[in-house]
Amino acid sequence: MSIPFGHQQLHNRYCFEGKLELVTALRISSGRASDETDAPFIRAFDGAPYIPGSSLRGAIRSEVERVLASMGKEVGLISCTLFEKDACAEKARKFLQKIETEKVKKDAGSNKQKNELTAEFAKLELCDVCKLLGSTVYASRLVIEDALPVDVAIARNHIRIRDGVGIDRDTGSAKDGAKFDYEVIDPINSSITFLFKMTAENVTDDSDRKLINLILGLLKHGLHVGGKRTGGLGKIKLKETDNAFYKVSGFENSTSLWKAIVNGEKIHNSIEWQEVIKC
Ligand SMILES: [Zn+2]
Repeated sequence: MSIPFGHQQLHNRYCFEGKLELVTALRISSGRASDETDAPFIRAFDGAPYIPGSSLRGAIRSEVERVLASMGKEVGLISCTLFEKDACAEKARKFLQKIETEKVKKDAGSNKQKNELTAEFAKLELCDVCKLLGSTVYASRLVIEDALPVDVAIARNHIRIRDGVGIDRDTGSAKDGAKFDYEVIDPINSSITFLFKMTAENVTDDSDRKLINLILGLLKHGLHVGGKRTGGLGKIKLKETDNAFYKVSGFENSTSLWKAIVNGEKIHNSIEWQEVIKC
């Protein structure tokens, strides 16, 4: 059965859990200076340093877009680019303008109608990446959670302060003699891992599945997250544990969801995930 596009009904849910291993020093700043450093590492309320889901998501998305820009056609996946004339963001802006004008005209803009129109627009007009990872008008169907360290104490013990160069905000160049330092988690001589959790809903069999497989492939291969990525910082990799890179749970269709609810079973049973990128 083909899966209808959208958020309104729940047809399937796949939950991927694994461990991300830090390969090079990671810099994700909290945005507020402390007494010790200009750019402390981001920490949760309990002091645990972590990788925000939004950082992971941004890093994944830009890597996916970079890969698809060169070989999207070969694998049958379409990705818009920011500076394209007909990019999804521009189409979305026009679409929103249109429904706002029609709403005023007919005064028939109920929320339900708007949601249906938006889903229809997303299905027909957005590129494969914006369809799954979201756009200005359409929420993502792929959720990536904040990644907490598997061992908080080890992660905290590997926080180091590095010296950087102060940047002149006006000219964008290095300021003479300006001192600036920042915190990193440096994995040297130790294995530092973070818990990875990604959930995808209403996965369609074609483009969504291909795209998720591409994301998993890129994570296994390793990608860069956080600050100073171009300088090689923040390389993370999905780590193989017990002959598997990740575990998948959830339900594949509404029948198995219903069965689980009626029989009082766990909704998140282990399920199979076919990891083949078809060309
Ligand atoms: Zn797009």
